Amino acid sequence: MIQRLTDALGADSVLHAPEDLAVYRFDGYATGATPGVVVLPRTTRDICAVMKVAKEFGVPVVARGAGTGLCGGATPGLGAIVVSFARMNRILELDIARRRVRVQPGVVNLDLSTDVARHRLFYAPDPASQRSCTIGGNIGTNAGGPHCLAYGTTTSHVLGLEVVDEHGEVFTTHIDDIGYDLTGALVGGEGTLGMVSSAWLRLTRMPQSVRVWLVAFGDIDSASETVSAILAAGIVPTALEMMDATIISAVEAVYHAGYPTDAAAVLLIESAGFEEDMERCQTDIARIARDHGALSWHAASSQRERDALWLGRKSAAGAIGSMTPNYYIQDVTVPRTKLPHALRAVEEAVRANGLRVGNVFHAGDGNLHPLIMYDKRNAYEVAAVVEAGTQILTTAIALGGTISGEHGIGSEKRETLGLVYSSDDLDPMLRLRDVFNASGLLNPEKIFPSGARCAEVR
Ligand SMILES: Cc1cc2nc3c(=O)[nH]c(=O)nc-3n(C[C@H](O)[C@H](O)[C@H](O)COP(=O)(O)OP(=O)(O)OC[C@H]3O[C@@H](n4cnc5c(N)ncnc54)[C@H](O)[C@@H]3O)c2cc1C
Repeated sequence: MIQRLTDALGADSVLHAPEDLAVYRFDGYATGATPGVVVLPRTTRDICAVMKVAKEFGVPVVARGAGTGLCGGATPGLGAIVVSFARMNRILELDIARRRVRVQPGVVNLDLSTDVARHRLFYAPDPASQRSCTIGGNIGTNAGGPHCLAYGTTTSHVLGLEVVDEHGEVFTTHIDDIGYDLTGALVGGEGTLGMVSSAWLRLTRMPQSVRVWLVAFGDIDSASETVSAILAAGIVPTALEMMDATIISAVEAVYHAGYPTDAAAVLLIESAGFEEDMERCQTDIARIARDHGALSWHAASSQRERDALWLGRKSAAGAIGSMTPNYYIQDVTVPRTKLPHALRAVEEAVRANGLRVGNVFHAGDGNLHPLIMYDKRNAYEVAAVVEAGTQILTTAIALGGTISGEHGIGSEKRETLGLVYSSDDLDPMLRLRDVFNASGLLNPEKIFPSGARCAEVR
């Protein structure tokens, strides 16, 4: 099989030495098994050739972007072919008039916005990992990000896809196609429905004016209630993020972003639009924050200061690394009005298991990301973090939320999918997967619970 792949792609595009394979076992969450081979295609035709060889040998194929995924989506099973899109990182076409761009899947999310900035355009979905994660991975997970509160997640920005299917054939979809919305169905497929070889994306015009405010609170409940009150007043900021005291001190120690270290929580709020609307927006949000007991209110006065405040937020997970040998990021959603309750439950679950937590999250979406600190060399702490994570999942469901806001299901949450879906719910999804992946070679053992096919899901 390796010889056939080498014949098709060239020796420099096929890795099979043990030390090369070892680094492809992981993503941002999990450790998989050692793949049999890693291929680095340059073109759609290369991907087709890989898929044909995989089919002939009956070997599973796992698509991989940057491997920043947090649910074990890009981890391989033993002997699988990993398809890394690292070399397919070109912007293929840019249509400024229609604000559209066609990119290869390995383009890094932030590189796209940086490249089109000279046309006063940007690509709106901005995961906190945007300095490394790729468009292919974002499409695979339907990634979100702080600014998705106003602009929508990845699925709202994908106009069309070119996909290599399980037979090594290419098909394309576009949201303007009549009939079924296949583009929508494929986004969030986690590599189980085909490999995206290029994508047409919507670009967004930069707003005339951007304001960023940092609001400090003496307790978490007041910050959470402010979030609900802002949205209930009909104001939709472009981003509405919350960080607790643990995250604030971790970020300040490393990045000196300018967050108040005496606050129990801060809200990082951004609004964008026409200059004349911004004054009113600022007045309204400031009044709501004051009514909910805000301790302080700070408006960033320059682009530099805005960038510093955002760098702190987007680097929070890295900053926590200075406080703990390991951390586990949970990803659940709850209705926004249940945020105070959910945050108390997170604290209780983590404390009851003898651990510590920092909370940094997309508060406007009710999308919690508790970062639970532990030491993976300590078996007790490993068991405790699993237990705390499970308790947080079940609490989110009990509050009317769900088990993933944006990171996906992957291998991490496949067995817990049965907590939110019955086998009757899963059956249409499995049948959709079978249409695109009848052979089961595309990223097997992901998303669906083991035994789901036999209606064994409780
Ligand atoms: C510090 C940190 C912060 C993060 N913040 C956020 C955040 O704010 N919002 C958010 O949504 N996520 C966040 N993430 C999670 C992660 O960055 C996203 O899920 C991202 O979309 C993964 O992109 P990737 O290129 O690393 O993909 P990978 O991890 O390599 O792959 C992710 C999934 O997509 C599939 N895939 C990859 N390429 C293709 C392709 N070409 N065709 C089909 N399927 C493909 C893979 O098989 C896998 O199932 C964060 C992660 C970290 C480490």
